[in-house]
Amino acid sequence: MSMVGDPKVTRRDVGVTGDAAELADLEERLESFVAELASAGIDESDEHACTREYVRRLAAAGLLRYVAPAAHGGAHDQVRSTPLCIIRQWLSRHSGALDTAFVMQGLGSNPVTLGGSEALRSQLLPRVVSGEAICAFALTEPEAGSDVSGMQTRAEVDGDGVRLHGEKCWISNAGVADSYVVFAREAEDAEGGKPRFGAFWVPGDAPGLSVEPMQVIAPHPIGKVRFDGVRVPAGHRLGEPGKGLRIALANLDVFRVTVGAAALGLADRALSETVAHLNTRVQFGKPLSKQQGLRFAVADVATDHVAAQLLVYRAAAARDRGAATPDQAAMAKLFATESAQRTIDRAVQSFGGRGVTVGEAPERLYREIRALRIYEGTSEIQKLVIARALFG
Ligand SMILES: Cc1cc2nc3c(=O)[nH]c(=O)nc-3n(C[C@H](O)[C@H](O)[C@H](O)COP(=O)(O)OP(=O)(O)OC[C@H]3O[C@@H](n4cnc5c(N)ncnc54)[C@H](O)[C@@H]3O)c2cc1C
Repeated sequence: MSMVGDPKVTRRDVGVTGDAAELADLEERLESFVAELASAGIDESDEHACTREYVRRLAAAGLLRYVAPAAHGGAHDQVRSTPLCIIRQWLSRHSGALDTAFVMQGLGSNPVTLGGSEALRSQLLPRVVSGEAICAFALTEPEAGSDVSGMQTRAEVDGDGVRLHGEKCWISNAGVADSYVVFAREAEDAEGGKPRFGAFWVPGDAPGLSVEPMQVIAPHPIGKVRFDGVRVPAGHRLGEPGKGLRIALANLDVFRVTVGAAALGLADRALSETVAHLNTRVQFGKPLSKQQGLRFAVADVATDHVAAQLLVYRAAAARDRGAATPDQAAMAKLFATESAQRTIDRAVQSFGGRGVTVGEAPERLYREIRALRIYEGTSEIQKLVIARALFG
């Protein structure tokens, strides 16, 4: 279902499998949701206020039902990747901040679905779906980015629970979140001395939790989060002691392919802006779209774009069938984010001076795509995963 005037290649049905009627209904709802937002003209300069507003609207439109299981107000028995991808592709086409507001509700609550007690799930997940609780996922640290085992945040035993000490950085929704999932180093393995990690749920107003905002190149609420002896009762532990990283990795397995889908949305927008501009901008007495050099350049990125869609929806379908392998999502994220960057760069170039002018669509897209090649595993880390599938 494309918007009026979009090139055919921006249609989202390429490679999508699943319940066709349900997905068509979802796309229709997304189309009107995004159109309504476009006319609402929400100011993204106050990142916290706009995140709250976006989460409120996403909940009212029923879109947050896709981030939780049916037992707690969600749309399906288990969280499914295909609808998450369709939603992210639509939302990011409109705004990266809107897409972030959506996905953090899932990335920040799914570890509770995966490893929380029934009491904690019942307490949190319905509030995530209704938009009352805004979520964050706190894994990265100053000394632990691509290599999360370098994590220094400690969980020290305190009665039947733990106390957290340490600092996380680049945490999306830091400061606006009501709910944090936090990963920390626990007791060393007695035999090999290997570090063991735990996963914990912490409310945003926990004593000892403080936030220092950070700023990145596109609107995105983000910051450092400090834990100065934050007390976590036993009931707020996720999964078994020492098995927290399994939860982190299982969570990233669900959401990694959806980063590729967000990149598809940005590329969709870039491609339709490029085609519309080249069709109307006249130089040398004719529209630029009559220049074969430009036509070929756009043909290249359009082909990449469809290939990226096939990879993303193939990986999402495999996950929903229970047949996912790590390399599928890695290839989808790698190719979709890298090719979206090329498509957006082509949009900037096609617009000439307007392409780098603040407020023009290509300029916004150029800033918004960049972080997608870095978070949830950089492009290089995706290559490590793909190479492991090839070489062992
Ligand atoms: C906008 C944004 C939002 C984010 N949100 C969150 C969040 O909500 N929660 C969270 O926990 N984290 C979040 N992050 C952090 C993100 O996941 C990390 O930045 C990312 O994992 C990379 O870690 P790093 O920045 O420490 O880079 P580093 O790990 O220091 O890597 C630096 C460079 O070296 C390369 N590199 C590293 N190791 C290898 C290797 N073995 N072989 C080849 N190349 C290698 C990397 O690919 C990269 O290019 C966010 C980051 C950004 C930018």
